[in-house]
Amino acid sequence: LPLAAAAAAAATTGGDAALDAFWMPFTANRQFKKSPRLLAKASGMHYWDADGREILDGCAGLWCVNAGHTRPKIVAAIQAQAAELDFAPTFQMGHPLAFELAGQITRIAPAGMGKVFFTNSGSESVETALKMALAYHRVRGEGQRTRLIGRERGYHGVNFGGISVGGIVANRKMFGAMLAGVDHIRHTHDPARNAFSVGQPAHGADFADDLERLCALHDPSTIAAVIVEPIAGSTGVLIPPQGYLQRLREICDRHGILLIFDEVITGFGRTGQPFAAQTFGVTPDLMTVAKGLTNGAVPMGAVIAKDMIHDAFMDGPEHLIEFFHGYTYSAHPLACAAGLATLQTYAEEGLLTRAQQLQGQLAERLHALRDAPNVIDVRNYGLVGGVELAPRPGEPGKRGFEVFLDCYANGVLIRTTGDTIAMSPPLIIEPAQIDQIVDTVRAALGRVA
Ligand code: PLP
Repeated sequence: LPLAAAAAAAATTGGDAALDAFWMPFTANRQFKKSPRLLAKASGMHYWDADGREILDGCAGLWCVNAGHTRPKIVAAIQAQAAELDFAPTFQMGHPLAFELAGQITRIAPAGMGKVFFTNSGSESVETALKMALAYHRVRGEGQRTRLIGRERGYHGVNFGGISVGGIVANRKMFGAMLAGVDHIRHTHDPARNAFSVGQPAHGADFADDLERLCALHDPSTIAAVIVEPIAGSTGVLIPPQGYLQRLREICDRHGILLIFDEVITGFGRTGQPFAAQTFGVTPDLMTVAKGLTNGAVPMGAVIAKDMIHDAFMDGPEHLIEFFHGYTYSAHPLACAAGLATLQTYAEEGLLTRAQQLQGQLAERLHALRDAPNVIDVRNYGLVGGVELAPRPGEPGKRGFEVFLDCYANGVLIRTTGDTIAMSPPLIIEPAQIDQIVDTVRAALGRVA
C-alpha cells in the first residue's frame, strides 16, 4: 500500500506530499496528517488499518453501516448494477429500481408516510424537506408560512438550510447571517434533572412548550415547519424526555405547523424499530433519512413524506412539473441497488428490531461507567450510547479526543463530539463485542485521567 508507506513517512517527517491534497472534512487537517489514521479494509464488525491492524467498529463507520461492512449481498448488488445500468436520469425518466426501493421504504415507514423523494445525503434530505414544507403551504394557499424552526444543539447537515435550522455554533459562526426567518426552540439537555437517565429521561416534556413561546412571538400562522432529531446524535447523544415528542406533535397540530423528524441517524433500526418515529410513537409529517438506507455503501438519502403532503402538490395541469427540485443523482441506480440489498439484509437478519435485544446489555455496561474517571453523564437508547466527560479546564473537547485516540490505539473505533463519547455499533454486534467496546472505553478513561 503506497499510502501506508506515506503515512509512516508522514509520522516521522511531520508531513508528506501524498497526503497533502485532500482537504479533509470536519478534521484537524494538520494534526491528522502528522500521524494519519488510514483505514484500508473492512468486513462485518471490523476495520483493518493500513498496517493490517484490526479495529472493532463501535460507531458503524459514521452511524451508517448498520448491517456491518462489505456484506456480500450488498457488494454483489452494487457490482451487478454497475455493469447493467450505470446511470439513468430521473427527471422526466425513470428506472425500475427507483420505484421498487421507494415502495420498499414505505413498507417499513410509519402508516400514512407513503411517498419517497431521493437525495444523495442527509444534508440534501434536510434541504429537500425544508423546501417541501415551504412549498406545501404555498400550494395550499398558505404561502405566508415561511418560518422554519429548529432546535439549539440540533445537527441537520452542513448546507445552508441545515446549518440555519441547526444549533451547533461552530457549524454556523463562520458563514454569515444564515437563512432568514429561522428561530430555534431550546434543547432538551438537562443534567440537573436527568443525568444518568437509563433510556428516556423522566423529566423535560415541558421543553416542548418552548415552541408555544415562538408561536406567540412570531404568530403561528407564519410558521411552516419544526425540525428536530428524535435523538440528537452529533451534539452528544441527547435522548428525548418522555412525552416530549408527543407534546411537540400536539403543538404543531394545534397550529397547522408541519413536524419534520431528521432520522438520518435514528433511521433503519438504531432505536429498535425501523424508525424512531415508531419507537417513540409519534408520526411526523416528513422524515429525512440517509446513512443506513444503503448501509453506507453508496451515498443516498431520502425524504419520506406523508401522502397528504405529496397529494397537495398533485393539483393543476398534469403536464406541469409539480415540485421544482431534484438532483442529477436522485435515485442513482447503484444507490438503489445498494438500498434494496440493504433492506433485504435487514429483513432477513431481523436487524431493524435487533437493538431491542441488545439495548439492555449496552445500557447496563455503559451505566456502569458512572464511577470511571471524569464521567459526568451516561445516556443511551437502543444501540446508541453517549458518555459525557468533564472537559479539561480551558480545553473543551480535548479530553474526549484523547479518549478517542486511546481507544483507536487499542483497537476500538468510537466517536467523540466535544467531550461526549458516542457509540453506535453496527446492529450485527455480538454481546462480547459490546463488552469489548465498553471495556476499552473504561481502560481509556483510566489512562486519559
Ligand atoms: N442530519 C443528521 C441528524 C445527521 O446526523 C447528519 C449526519 O451525521 C446529517 C443530517 C447530514 O448527513 P450527511 O453527512 O449525509 O449530509
